[in-house]
Amino acid sequence: MKKITILGSTGSIGVSALNVIEKNPQRFQVEALTAGRNIQLLKKQIEKFKPKVVAVSNKDSALKLREALNVKSRVKIFYDEEGLKEVASFPSADIVISAISGSAGLMPTLAAIEAGKDIALANKETMVMAGEIVTRRAIKKGVKIIPVDSEHSAIFQCLDGYNRRDLRRIILTASGGPFLNFTRNELKRVSLSQTLRHPNWKMGKKITIDSASMMNKGLEVIEAKWLFNVDIGDIDVLIHPQSIVHSLVEFIDGAFLAQMGVPDMKIPIAYAMTYPERIINDLPSLNLAKTGNLEFFKPDIKKFPCLGIAYAAGLCGGTAPVVLNAADEIAVSAFMENKIRFIDLPEIIEKILARHDSIKNPSLDDILQADLWARKETKKIIGRIIT
Ligand code: NDP
Repeated sequence: MKKITILGSTGSIGVSALNVIEKNPQRFQVEALTAGRNIQLLKKQIEKFKPKVVAVSNKDSALKLREALNVKSRVKIFYDEEGLKEVASFPSADIVISAISGSAGLMPTLAAIEAGKDIALANKETMVMAGEIVTRRAIKKGVKIIPVDSEHSAIFQCLDGYNRRDLRRIILTASGGPFLNFTRNELKRVSLSQTLRHPNWKMGKKITIDSASMMNKGLEVIEAKWLFNVDIGDIDVLIHPQSIVHSLVEFIDGAFLAQMGVPDMKIPIAYAMTYPERIINDLPSLNLAKTGNLEFFKPDIKKFPCLGIAYAAGLCGGTAPVVLNAADEIAVSAFMENKIRFIDLPEIIEKILARHDSIKNPSLDDILQADLWARKETKKIIGRIIT
């Protein structure tokens, strides 16, 4: 029986992880859950899975949750970043699923690593912001970081059992998102609801918008660098609209390995929870005869500049990826609030990066300062835009 903590249990990944747990009650037990503000869903999850502790993002939500729960409920409720860290490091858990969205996932994930927990990592921002520190601390504590992101799970599976020295390059696949065949002119007018309609995956809003701009793939390139200890220059991206091949590796002898499957996050989530074992699920089997053609082509970086900007930030290293991530988070929120257009995203992010002097080998404090600085500067720029 594995004891599981889920950070971000009310999100898309969190709900899928609980679905895996519900279908395998003999294998998993929920120890702890965290949410942001969705108290109604967290309440239902507490009643069903009976965690020992939970945390929410602020005191107000914690008070609302206590009021909503039955007076007999014994669950301990923590709140704010300290509360999230407390729950992330809850002693009896074996694995922590890190699935908070955005930079809010970093500190709780680091706390879980410090407490010696294996991490099933969905929160790519943890690696983008602090990949060097996170991997160093994980090695020191002897904890495994197992990717949940479907592309990284694919690479992880392709490399399993092979010598890393034999790896020539990694190829991350990307669906291309809802605007793959749009012209640059058409991109000027896309709405939020169009942007949120991903062709193949059901995900949270932030990652869905990042998928449409291809920033998500850029963040994944940086995540892959740290997860697999490869140079950014050895990570390629290919558009693959069918989302059947989740990613590939090439070895030094020219042999390629790819991992395929139906696009459903429950597969990589369950694998990260059971690695090195696999468990049965009730998903349909991939029928390649029915799938038809599998296409692959190079991304258009002129049309989707976010990918190129992320590559550049990844190559620069230091605090540049922190600034990239923070500027993107603020710009995406502004797009969701109708304050900027979809096409403004790369321009804003690039401007912020251009103003930043990257700090090499940053400390955690440098990272948090760079994150704060970028958020403030991005808000200033957005405040001066009239759409
Ligand atoms: P969602 O937006 O669906 O869920 C985010 C979760 O984080 C929710 O539980 C939310 O709580 C919680 N949360 C957000 N902000 C805070 C905060 N400040 N404090 C505490 N909790 C917070 O996101 P996804 O599940 O789609 O994505 C989660 C992570 O996984 C992201 O990093 C994403 O890039 C990554 N990922 C997601 C994939 C997917 O298929 N969805 C695929 C691969 C990676 P609440 O809703 O209660 O406010």
